[in-house]
Amino acid sequence: MSTLSFRNVWVEYGNQVVLERINLEIASGTFLSIVGPSGAGKSTFLRLILGQERPTQGSVLLDGRPFPAEPGPDRGIVFQRYSVFPHLTVLGNVLLGYELASSPLTARLLGTARKAAVEKSLALIEAVGLAEHCDKYPSALSGGMQQRLAIAQALAKQPRVLLLDEPFGALDPGTRAQMHALIKPLWREHKMTIVMVTHDIKEAFGLATRLIALDRPRKDPQAPERFGARIT
Ligand code: ADP
Ligand code: ADP
Repeated sequence: MSTLSFRNVWVEYGNQVVLERINLEIASGTFLSIVGPSGAGKSTFLRLILGQERPTQGSVLLDGRPFPAEPGPDRGIVFQRYSVFPHLTVLGNVLLGYELASSPLTARLLGTARKAAVEKSLALIEAVGLAEHCDKYPSALSGGMQQRLAIAQALAKQPRVLLLDEPFGALDPGTRAQMHALIKPLWREHKMTIVMVTHDIKEAFGLATRLIALDRPRKDPQAPERFGARIT
């Protein structure tokens, strides 16, 4: 289970209201897409779920409980770029995901635990189509391959919630299409809740089971809530 709840959430920076009156239940297993213009608060929304941001008012809950202050392995995130560690190989990057999930403080697995994690890492690497590149460093991979690696690393943490922040935004159309074909089965198989920010409305409709459009806050404080469109 991994239900996210926003209860009367406001985020303000000084006098600027960025998110206002958000009341939302995101059911476990939802593939939610967030669209909206630049400055609408999409990254702020993700940071609230990551635990990197506190609401000025209201609360954000995972299965009815407040998030721990530190982003833990229960949440994974993939950014548009630079989500992987350049000094680790493909295998090293994915293995680190498993290590972080089992011992976040030391991030070391030894003996049979390590052997099992290596096997699981190899399976994930194969699932994202990088089996032939296990020993390569990220700098030797194309942009699309780096994003596939970032997804594999995030999945290795076995997160309950996977956050995708414009994950395919830097890729060419062909590679994007490949990534779309990859992410949907992974989402089903891992039974995660996914929250994806994108500028690409077609991508949002193609992948998501639920869509939220954020707009820049209105001047009129009496205005109705700004979102809630649902697609299936
Ligand atoms: P989006 O991701 O939709 O482009 P953001 O969540 O990044 O929007 O930002 C929403 C608004 O909040 C913007 O006007 C931005 O300038 C402002 N903002 C974001 N983070 C901060 C911060 N740490 N301090 C002050 N203002 C911020
Ligand atoms: P893809 O090749 O998966 O579509 P991009 O569109 O990001 O990835 O990359 C465009 C071109 O730039 C590709 O031909 C790729 O080989 C090259 N490239 C991208 N990133 C790197 C990198 N880190 N090192 C070397 N070449 C790269």
